[in-house]
Amino acid sequence: MTTTYSHWIAGQTVEGQSGRFSHVYHPAKGEVCASLPLANEDEVNAVVAVAQAAFPAWATTPALRRARVMFKFKALLESHAEEMTQAIAQEHGKVKDDAYGELVRGIEVVEFACGAPHLLKGEMAENVGTNVDSYSLRQPLGVVAGITPFNFPAMVPMWMFPMALVAGNCFILKPSEKVPGAAMLIARLLKEAGLPDGVFNVLHGDKAAVDAILNHPGIQAVSFVGSTPIARHIYATGTANGKRVQALGGAKNHMVIMPDADVNQVADALMGAAYGSAGERCMAISVAVAVGDETADKLVATLAPRIRTLKIGAWDMQGVEMGPLITREHRDKVKGYIDLGVQEGAKLLVDGRGFMAPDNKTGFFIGGSLFDHVTPNMRIYQEEIFGPVLAVVRVSNYEEAVKLINEHAFGNGTAIFTQNGDTARNFVHRIQVGMVGVNVPLPVPMAFMSFGGWKQSLFGDHHAYGAEGIRFYTKLKTVTERWPQSLHGGAEFVMPTMK
Ligand code: NAD
Repeated sequence: MTTTYSHWIAGQTVEGQSGRFSHVYHPAKGEVCASLPLANEDEVNAVVAVAQAAFPAWATTPALRRARVMFKFKALLESHAEEMTQAIAQEHGKVKDDAYGELVRGIEVVEFACGAPHLLKGEMAENVGTNVDSYSLRQPLGVVAGITPFNFPAMVPMWMFPMALVAGNCFILKPSEKVPGAAMLIARLLKEAGLPDGVFNVLHGDKAAVDAILNHPGIQAVSFVGSTPIARHIYATGTANGKRVQALGGAKNHMVIMPDADVNQVADALMGAAYGSAGERCMAISVAVAVGDETADKLVATLAPRIRTLKIGAWDMQGVEMGPLITREHRDKVKGYIDLGVQEGAKLLVDGRGFMAPDNKTGFFIGGSLFDHVTPNMRIYQEEIFGPVLAVVRVSNYEEAVKLINEHAFGNGTAIFTQNGDTARNFVHRIQVGMVGVNVPLPVPMAFMSFGGWKQSLFGDHHAYGAEGIRFYTKLKTVTERWPQSLHGGAEFVMPTMK
């Protein structure tokens, strides 16, 4: 039996009015589990009006009180962790422990947001001129929107709204239409935590809703996470309409393996980073850059048997390491890339195309794949595959590895595995990528740092969450003040300077 989702507006569920719906699947079963309303422009207008009405009271609520809502919300997320984990895993397909890990990384942003009273403090300078003081304020923008991808149904929305809300903004979340369940649970828990109605809203939809958001003059800022072509569209349209936009896009993350790295440690790191979450992570490692043929030979010999014996199955099965892909179409696209790699002349050492889950023929499963001898001119090297497919590129020295990465169109994450501190330090300084790991395969910054890539992995000036999140969701105001007893009288027509 399938359920029908509703939007969440002004603290309650609201049925879709457009008459357009899409299907939500359980990827492990390959079955439709729910129907989702797709909002039209009128519904976008209505939710913006609700958020605008809630804004003045929320913006003037003391930051400490706003933070207290987040404290309660954090406790509620923890007491509903099982329900949240299930909501994430069922619709996404990732294994249960991975879904729980995503939730924990999201909760960490909520914890950071609890420090809002401190984070929102401005700067103060006394006596900037004689008897003149100056200070700065960070004030909320108004109504802001978040548009999120399927691969982190809870964590990516939580990169955005905790920071936006504690800064005093009202938020409209347009979650991925493939995984709406976690967003609906979040909305309920925020209300239970004491968030006033209308401050946080969930509107489901596709391009029609997104474009209406981008064109609505009542929305001041848009945070987007998703694929690069859509990120580019969001950034171009949003900024053309005068909005502040941060649009995080796709990735092709390289891991450099130096000859001195421990091959077993590297193999452990790559198994998790390339095949965890079936490779559907924007920080997944999809290219292993082996320095020297000997390094590459050892690496593929260690990895191949482990990839062939990956435990693949439904999210709730005991001991499972990898779940299905998100949709049948996406699985076929990933298979198409493996076909393409073979045509392009890469050596397919492990072929996941034929994988069939023993007890489940309808889920969107695929096995892990490994290509060796991949070269930079191949499309399987240049394009984001977003599946459990690892490409090994062989280079003869460290300089070639750096050049390869710096010339790639994407610059989200990267890592180097080495025992040499000089090499690692050189890599950190020269590499043209936003997030760098040294012997750390998935260098996803903690909540008190900020998340963001370079080049085609991010359009905009601000990274997500952390101090960058506060900057993105606030306007800076600087006040210069002098009180009557120190006024000297007389007009000044030149630029004020220190006399
Ligand atoms: P997607 O770009 O297809 O969708 C993202 C969001 O955009 C969804 O809410 C979707 O409804 C909306 N959307 C889709 N097509 C649209 C269109 N034509 N016009 C307007 N809106 C549209 O991405 P996805 O498949 O959900 O997620 C996977 C992608 O997200 C991968 O490329 C991955 O690398 C990227 N991602 C990036 C990061 C990061 O931090 N850089 C994090 C997670 C995921």
